[in-house]
Amino acid sequence: MQDCLFCKIVEREIPAKIVYEDEQVLAFHDIDPKAPTHILIIPKRHITTLNDLTEEDAALVGRLQVTAAKLAKEMGFAEQGYRIVMNCNEDGGQTVWHIHMHLLAGRSLTWPPG
Ligand code: 5GP
Repeated sequence: MQDCLFCKIVEREIPAKIVYEDEQVLAFHDIDPKAPTHILIIPKRHITTLNDLTEEDAALVGRLQVTAAKLAKEMGFAEQGYRIVMNCNEDGGQTVWHIHMHLLAGRSLTWPPG
């Protein structure tokens, strides 16, 4: 999608610190980290919000989750723990309109979130 920030990162029109890539998924460091390690895992295909997911996207979303868990493990956070978050629309805290999974790690995270 033309004006989508994360599509531009996928297309390398905007730089990002990429940590993982395959044919469907891209993962890169968040520009404004909310934890010592903050990675965003996104589908390369544009999907605006979680509300736009269909049954056909089940495997893709599973792939995002598996990628996040794999990265957390590789980065050494499996034992201590980490958090995976997906925000949807304004009240959910979504600010970029291309679905993404946050991987937050490296500190003790509080619950519930604000
Ligand atoms: P949301 O609030 O939509 O759940 O998360 C969007 C995330 O994207 C935020 O954590 C924000 O810091 C991050 N972000 C916004 N603009 C950029 C950017 O240009 N590059 C990167 N790497 N992350 C960004």
